[in-house]
Amino acid sequence: MSTKDYLEKDYYAVLGVPKTASAEEIKKAYRKLARKYHPDANPGNKETEEKFKEVSEAYDVLSDVKRRKEYDEARTLFGSGVGGFAGAGGPRGAGGGFNFDLGDLFGGSGSSERIGDLFGGLFNRGGAGTRTTTARPRRGQDVESEVTLAFGEAVDGTTVSLRLTSSAACTACGGTGAKAGTTPRVCPTCEGTGAASRNLGNFAFSEPCRDCRGRGLVVDDPCPVCEGSGRGKSTRTIQARIPAGVGDGQRIRIKGKGAPGENGGPAGDLYVLVHVKPHPVFGRSGENLTVTVPVTFPEAALGAEIKVPTLRGMPVTLRIPEGTPNGRTFRVRGRGAPRKDGTKGDLLVTVQVTVPQTLDDKARAALEEFRNATEGQDLREELIKQARSE
Ligand SMILES: [Zn+2]
Ligand SMILES: [Zn+2]
Repeated sequence: MSTKDYLEKDYYAVLGVPKTASAEEIKKAYRKLARKYHPDANPGNKETEEKFKEVSEAYDVLSDVKRRKEYDEARTLFGSGVGGFAGAGGPRGAGGGFNFDLGDLFGGSGSSERIGDLFGGLFNRGGAGTRTTTARPRRGQDVESEVTLAFGEAVDGTTVSLRLTSSAACTACGGTGAKAGTTPRVCPTCEGTGAASRNLGNFAFSEPCRDCRGRGLVVDDPCPVCEGSGRGKSTRTIQARIPAGVGDGQRIRIKGKGAPGENGGPAGDLYVLVHVKPHPVFGRSGENLTVTVPVTFPEAALGAEIKVPTLRGMPVTLRIPEGTPNGRTFRVRGRGAPRKDGTKGDLLVTVQVTVPQTLDDKARAALEEFRNATEGQDLREELIKQARSE
């Protein structure tokens, strides 16, 4: 196993176990994968053969307490923003800047302190350009956001500015958690593994080390900005296009606007939960807009040309025929919400016959005249007859 292997390969990921996995968990994971990828089970398959080798190599290291410790220490040190060191010397392999054996470093007595000193200056480099060059590309995380749109914006589509906050390394300390000018040191309790095992009778549990909270490093002089956590927040503002016709409660996926990827991986997606404010006049029914308009009894009875409102446009004239019943819906073509093909849905107009709450003398006289003209009509007669016979 070379130094390069230690830094490039994530044995925990290969076995699909957490860094804090117990020896038993590692063994179980290995057995399962070894069975799956064993050459006997996959004759002639180069891909599974390669997998089998990878899994075996990971298990060789992680099942050996001493080697696992060395591996963890190496990755803790070089995974904390000093990875640039490994790749700093240009091309890898012969002539690269990294030609000493970790065994020399980690095998000695009191190694943790010595390593801390040796690489101390490197921790402070932090920031851009020093990310590990050995890590694999990783897709950025999906990000959730919310937006509240006015009714008309949702109908027509709009572009909104969204402020997105995501977690990032603290800028003051470059993510180490140590006050500027100081360096975290390898946790003496867990010796950098981040894991501690606790014995309960016959069972041994692996849990995050309490002294370093699983980080493997301890900070003597915490960064005042992040209080030693190394975590900060980064805020960015993005423009997001909300398509026309979006409805209240809908979630829009905007590809590639999530968190940036790592090591050249693609960005995650942004999901925007849309709220739409209700409109005082219009409602929505898919691509159609709806509106309820009051009409008088004579308008409904005699027929009329009435003006109906359109969304942010001039009113249109709707002809309602003689004898229009209360609640009838009329369709005004092309005055609804935009469709994908550029045309528009319809405006659905429902009429509501209203009863006057006050009458002046002239109106009252006219209504009394109407009543006299229709005397003898009893609208309930048929109902009463049916009710008795059934
Ligand atoms: Zn610890
Ligand atoms: Zn900080």
